[in-house]
Amino acid sequence: MDSTFDVVVLGAGSGGYACALRAAELGLTVALVERAKVGGTCLHLGCIPTKALLHAAEVADTVRDAGEFGVGASLAGIDMAGVHRYKDAVVAKLFKGLTGLVASRGITLVEGEGRLFAPDTVAVGDRLLTGRHVVLASGSYAKTLPGITIDGQYVLTSEHALGLDRVPTSALVLGGGVIGCEFASVWRSFGAEVTIIEALPHLVPNEDQAISLALERSFRRRRIGFRVAARVEQVTVIDGGVRVSISGGDTLEAEVLLVAVGRGPCTDGLGYAEQGVTLEHGFVVTDERLATGLTTASGGHVYAVGDIVPGLQLAHRGFQQGIFVAEEIAGLDPNPIDEAGIPRITYCDPEIASVGLTETTARDRLGKIETLTYDLGGNGKSQILKTQGFVKLVRQSEGPVVGIHIIGARAGELIGEAQLIYGWEAFPDDIASLVHAHPTQNEALGEAFLALAGKPLHIHA
Ligand code: NAD
Repeated sequence: MDSTFDVVVLGAGSGGYACALRAAELGLTVALVERAKVGGTCLHLGCIPTKALLHAAEVADTVRDAGEFGVGASLAGIDMAGVHRYKDAVVAKLFKGLTGLVASRGITLVEGEGRLFAPDTVAVGDRLLTGRHVVLASGSYAKTLPGITIDGQYVLTSEHALGLDRVPTSALVLGGGVIGCEFASVWRSFGAEVTIIEALPHLVPNEDQAISLALERSFRRRRIGFRVAARVEQVTVIDGGVRVSISGGDTLEAEVLLVAVGRGPCTDGLGYAEQGVTLEHGFVVTDERLATGLTTASGGHVYAVGDIVPGLQLAHRGFQQGIFVAEEIAGLDPNPIDEAGIPRITYCDPEIASVGLTETTARDRLGKIETLTYDLGGNGKSQILKTQGFVKLVRQSEGPVVGIHIIGARAGELIGEAQLIYGWEAFPDDIASLVHAHPTQNEALGEAFLALAGKPLHIHA
């Protein structure tokens, strides 16, 4: 079997498989090494299955609230086995499509635990795969905190939470970031009592503060509890559940505790440091062209993509990095990725979507800025959907818009246009002259830009 390739990719998650697919499309020979399943965290344990849970949660809420729309219905309960069948079928369909794609592009898929054996060689068992270039794409794992032991029964990571065979009657969620808010939202919609414990002063602390405050208001309305600026002091497994002592002397109890305090890079024990890859806090250090600085015997490079590279741990960032590296290897001289232009979505109810700088960061970096908030109360489609929220624009004074922040049902679907606006460094007048279809939620962006351009329509001037 051939063991020499143009590119050897270690890890077949979003970053790794995107790199392999693009490299193969460009005529390069590719080996793709994977210890579990092609598709990685995103397809099997992250984005896709959690969004299926979130959709099931939305269906439950729709049924529960049907009377508000004059439709008679009552929620008989949540059949977790049925929810899992639906979720797993979505994952299985995408997995089948993806493995078919990998095969059809002539990529050599090598199943097993890979290790960087030399700068140009990945070892899988006793098989050595040598590449002109090597791409490290080994992904991330759910972190825990000192003193908290994950047992998979009462103290869970998102991976366990995803497969839970029941709706817990009560849940504590440690970490009010993306995973914490998404699971809190699902479990609440399914009927659980939920409390989030967050160390920083607000939920989703990386978002614009107006978004955090709006989410907190919504969660209060949904009776999702949260303790912010709170530290966990002790976690004890008790009979049939967990007891958590937090700073300030309070003790909380629940059936399960989900630990969602971030994800760490999978770089330990893979030969990276031994072969000369520079690691910082476990993450792989790269230049803006994603090269690690390590070269191969044939004059190629060792690159890194995805969650092991410091920055946003998002599948779509991994895709873009994978494509970038494949094109770099093929000599296409792609443009470096603008990290600030990567859209971010938290799929809780209400949904949050943003691109670019928060108001605080923009003020720190740019000095004089302007902001405009357009309330979804004036947007017809949002009223039809009975959602609340807003679009907030952050603009450099007399300059382009540098941040767009949205909260409300289906906000994630609006971020595509927001990202284009951000990426093109558009001026408010440019966007104000675009025609947005009526009635759509998308129109909220158009209205916000009309207002920012000094021509407000459905907004008080
Ligand atoms: P995160 O960084 O989004 O949130 C972790 C939260 O835990 C932070 O708010 C942090 O302040 C808090 N925290 C840390 N230590 C704490 C402590 N001791 N006590 C209380 N709170 C503490 O990380 P996550 O939610 O675990 O998600 C991991 C990664 O996966 C993120 O990079 C995220 O972007 C990504 N992800 C993305 C999506 C999506 O795009 N929708 C969904 C899930 C995960």
